[in-house]
Amino acid sequence: MSVMESVDVVVVGTGNAASCAALAAKEAGAAVLLVDAASEDDRGGNTAYAGGQMRVAFNGVDDLTKVIADLTDEDIRNTDFGTYTASEFFDDMARVTQYRCHSELVEYVIDNSLDTLVWLRSKGVRFEAAFGRQASKVDGRMKFWGGLPCIVWGGGAGLIDALHARAKKDGIRTLYETPAVGLLRDANRVTGITVLHKGETREIRAKAVVLACGGFEANAEMRARYLGPNWDLAKVRGTRFNTGAGLRMALDAGARSYGHWSCAHSSCWELNAPEYGDPIVKGAYQKHSYPFGVMVNADGNRFVDEGADFQTLTYARFGREVLAQPGLFAWQVFDQRAIPLLRETYRIRQVTQVQAATLEELASKMEGVNADGFLKTMREFNRAAPADEAPLNASVKDGLGTKGLALPKSNWARPIDRGPFEAYAVTAGITFTFGGVKITTNAEVEDDAGRPIPGLFTAGEMVGGLFYHNYPSGTGLTCGAVFGRTAGRSAASFAKSM
Ligand SMILES: Cc1cc2nc3c(=O)[nH]c(=O)nc-3n(C[C@H](O)[C@H](O)[C@H](O)COP(=O)(O)OP(=O)(O)OC[C@H]3O[C@@H](n4cnc5c(N)ncnc54)[C@H](O)[C@@H]3O)c2cc1C
Repeated sequence: MSVMESVDVVVVGTGNAASCAALAAKEAGAAVLLVDAASEDDRGGNTAYAGGQMRVAFNGVDDLTKVIADLTDEDIRNTDFGTYTASEFFDDMARVTQYRCHSELVEYVIDNSLDTLVWLRSKGVRFEAAFGRQASKVDGRMKFWGGLPCIVWGGGAGLIDALHARAKKDGIRTLYETPAVGLLRDANRVTGITVLHKGETREIRAKAVVLACGGFEANAEMRARYLGPNWDLAKVRGTRFNTGAGLRMALDAGARSYGHWSCAHSSCWELNAPEYGDPIVKGAYQKHSYPFGVMVNADGNRFVDEGADFQTLTYARFGREVLAQPGLFAWQVFDQRAIPLLRETYRIRQVTQVQAATLEELASKMEGVNADGFLKTMREFNRAAPADEAPLNASVKDGLGTKGLALPKSNWARPIDRGPFEAYAVTAGITFTFGGVKITTNAEVEDDAGRPIPGLFTAGEMVGGLFYHNYPSGTGLTCGAVFGRTAGRSAASFAKSM
């Protein structure tokens, strides 16, 4: 096999984690090469599809001004940004993962979250305040909720453009359409990767390798094998290139499998969305305003507590719940109390939507749904929901739940009785998988004995042990940036020690 390149650090992938690793390794003095299975047009993996929200621990607006350059004095005067302390961030991670997340890795992410966003800014990433998504007007002032005031300008695609512009400026080269297919090893360490390049298997020799090439969400066979029946039928919300190749390479090299392999991040996604993410529509297929309505299945029954928590803390497990329903679909139903609050993703052209003046008429239009079952569900729900006239407010869990239902709706429950009504058909869209390999806080990949495999580092979706059962929104990019940056630094330092 011929040697194609020889570098200090080769980074596999061009998404958030890979780009951060490449920039950090370069900053530390290493010669760096990026390789991606995708073409240049399709670069950036799932990151290019992301909304761009990044969860960060902060102690007040002064911390945010270090990240968001464009905050004006007027913004600061008219907005309650609140705080999101490290312990609140940790509590959210612990609670949603049912206290299984690896505390040391999570603490590392949280403690480095603010500093990493500031570093991203220094690399040319522009952040803005997520007024449109995470704030609402309370007593005449905008109030943020949920630890998510920071969003990348231009979303995930903007993040990729900024990081790659900087990589180019730093002289980092990228080989596209060059999938990594294996790791090279000698007796002591990982010595590079094998790639497919223009139909030939070639070697890229490196003193250190960073694998940042995503989970197995785009691999139907692995989804069925690890996540279970019908997961092969889920829609993929993002890139088609994350097929688990990186995980397989790491496991073959002796990496310790870690985390929740039988679970994934998945959310309510337009029923007729294409098989993989659409680079134009991107995340707009998502349907996350269910806390203000109800979701029913083919039998017309509700199947989740739509108001269990803020949507940012429930949406990543509700795709799984939809996938478990007969026919693998659900309808989200809203009345005039909720319709003004629906996110912009409900207003795109590519929606499966029906409207009707009455619930009876709506029932007849919701394809695949048992009308009698649905109307019975709505009668019971409307009797159980408090007839409170206070407007629905997304920024607080209002505690107004149903009374006496076997399956409650815990917050934002109101009778759904003000026509005209709207309903939207959804299925499960998988975002990324939770199973991965175990790393140290230096992003070194551990073997089964818990020892670092010399020369092998990883970051991003390939890291196991961060997410179990569920996920707080905006954490994927933050974890990927923190461990990507760390992997780059560690790989450069390892390469230097060779
Ligand atoms: C629609 C959508 C919206 C989202 N919104 C948010 C959000 O607002 N905030 C947030 O925090 N997270 C969000 N996420 C999740 C977030 O995008 C991911 O967690 C994150 O981007 C993963 O980054 P990564 O670098 O690990 O992987 P990716 O960005 O997926 O990059 C993986 C890279 O590896 C490449 N690759 C794969 N296999 C190979 C191979 N064999 N050889 C070479 N290259 C390979 C891929 O082509 C790709 O470039 C969203 C995801 C989606 C799909």
